[in-house]
Amino acid sequence: MSKLISKWNYPTTVRFGAGRIKELPDVLAATGIKRPLFVTDPGLAKLPVVASTLKILDDAEVPYGVFSEVKPNPVDSNLTAGIAAFKKGKHDGVIAFGGGSALDLGKLIAFQAGQTRPVWDFEDVGDWWTRANSDAIAPIIAVPTTAGTGSEVGRAGVITNEATHTKKVIFHPKLLPAIVIADPELSVGMPGFITAGTGMDALAHCLEAYCAPGYHPMADGIAVEGVRLVFENLPKAFANGKDLVARAHMMSAAAMGAAAFQKGLGAIHSLSHPIGALYDTHHGMTNAVFMPYVLAFNRDAIEVRIARLAAYCGIKGGFDGFAKAVIKLRKELKVPHALPGLIKGLDMDKKRKGLIADMAVVDPTAGGNPVKLTRKAALTLLDNAIAGT
Ligand code: NAD
Repeated sequence: MSKLISKWNYPTTVRFGAGRIKELPDVLAATGIKRPLFVTDPGLAKLPVVASTLKILDDAEVPYGVFSEVKPNPVDSNLTAGIAAFKKGKHDGVIAFGGGSALDLGKLIAFQAGQTRPVWDFEDVGDWWTRANSDAIAPIIAVPTTAGTGSEVGRAGVITNEATHTKKVIFHPKLLPAIVIADPELSVGMPGFITAGTGMDALAHCLEAYCAPGYHPMADGIAVEGVRLVFENLPKAFANGKDLVARAHMMSAAAMGAAAFQKGLGAIHSLSHPIGALYDTHHGMTNAVFMPYVLAFNRDAIEVRIARLAAYCGIKGGFDGFAKAVIKLRKELKVPHALPGLIKGLDMDKKRKGLIADMAVVDPTAGGNPVKLTRKAALTLLDNAIAGT
């Protein structure tokens, strides 16, 4: 029994369901935000989904500002500009609206606007988060429009350091949004590539959390049901974006993945982070490419667990059956089987591979991999993902 020691954290209030975006003014009142900064990305800002949400604020006569300088894989200059907009508009809270990029940046603006230390001092390392002035963090409302990262229920924000080309995970318990509106109607406009990539991100979160060592039966339970929801609903959402039931289940699976990955992630993410930082690839799609290679690498440590997961999901054939089901799902979603399918003209020399392997082994997610991710193993996994073998 001595090893059954753990720490469990569970998400915030989630107002879940189609049409619930109408409750935004009520949610603002509940969180005490009077002058929100609405943070979204430039692509979304042009879409009706943003116009109709801002109309809800206009109709309720809420004084708000809009900030949309958010790159996919947001960078520190986006954060600097966002903080300036927050201060200039005298805002007292953030509505983070969008995919993981806008959610993370919105959360980080609310967090960092009141801090005096650089954001890098709050990387998810040990207890670095205790360096922050917790009283200076503005409240956050999160509204996801993709179904993958689960950032809406997470206590972290991911941001790329432009100087070092590294993706950093910033952590603080108060990065957890005060209230989430998870309205699947907001996600129906996602194009196929983003539906597939974000959905595979949710699967990667559930899968890596479930396989991570450590005692966390609640995370395991959530992850297992999350995997089932993805297998059942992602192909439907991909085939018909307007399938609201499939979209709703995927929005749940995304939140479940993030609730589960407090237990840990693994080598899929450790490799995907440097690739995303260096090549600006979509995070979930990059995870999807690495998934089968990492599954095979971890086989000895996870075979029994994966067989149990496969049985729960109705997938026959134990570990092998599950691995085949992952490949089939990727094919159905038009996920490239190898990295050159994702990064056009990819030509990686030995030095670049070494750099990626170095970055992968020190990525905070590497510690959650069920088999130790050595530099040699990272290089082999990278070679496999490039060759598609
Ligand atoms: P994203 O936020 O980068 O969005 C991708 C594209 O989809 C954008 O062009 C956006 O405009 C578009 N889009 C979003 N919603 C749409 C909709 N409803 N209709 C049409 N287009 C839409 O993608 P993402 O995968 O959601 O987020 C990726 C980011 O999240 C990465 O930076 C990644 O590192 C980070 N991330 C964070 C966490 C976390 O715990 N905080 C976890 C995983 C990933």
